[in-house]
Amino acid sequence: MPSEQPLRLLLLGPPGAGKGTQARRLSERHGIPHVASGDLLREHVQKETELGKEAKGYMDRGDYVPDDVMIRLICERVGRPDAEGFILDGFPRTMPQANALSERLEELGRPVDLVVALDVPSELIVERLSGRRLCPTCQRAYHMTYEPPADDEVCDEDGTELVTRPDDEADTVRHRLRVYAEATEGLRAHYDEVGLLVVLDGTGDPEDVSERIDKAIEAAT
Ligand code: AMP
Repeated sequence: MPSEQPLRLLLLGPPGAGKGTQARRLSERHGIPHVASGDLLREHVQKETELGKEAKGYMDRGDYVPDDVMIRLICERVGRPDAEGFILDGFPRTMPQANALSERLEELGRPVDLVVALDVPSELIVERLSGRRLCPTCQRAYHMTYEPPADDEVCDEDGTELVTRPDDEADTVRHRLRVYAEATEGLRAHYDEVGLLVVLDGTGDPEDVSERIDKAIEAAT
């Protein structure tokens, strides 16, 4: 049931923490957009826009796309009429992004209700990401062990052949985890200080993780 106040939630966590899976479910349940910075970037890369061309090299290496590019992209998205409520997945990832976001949301009168950080150990992340497949048409994510498509390696929604993201190769994953750890240390401390942070265990069945998130939302809203 959508609540009266649209929910505004940030999801933090390393790549492979399950942010996308949880964000999609929350988006359906609350009737609010799932704004995934990685998905928006991949759309730009696929359409070969100027922004996509600029971002591609960073993404393929597992490095962060520069803050100014990310800030422009997301600050525009959260100002659209359908974004009274939203789940932000993958943004912010740095303090300059967090500061720009809170200024923008204040300007829009759409402050964040809650920041959920999903904790998952690195060994498990490498395993999770090596089984991950993506539909290049609709961006739906699958996992060959945990959330396989109905038919071998094609998308349930549109029949497109699934692909492995180039940045999900094991070496790139380890690099992404290091980049994540360095860049986000301060972020969690910041959201903790302003009283918005809830840290949850992101391991186990996705249904169980969902339940933990639902309880945190209930307690915060
Ligand atoms: P994701 O799908 O969230 O894992 O993002 C895939 C890639 O997109 C990352 O490895 C980065 O190269 C880039 N990216 C996504 N979100 C951000 C962000 N907030 N800041 C910088 N780079 C980002």
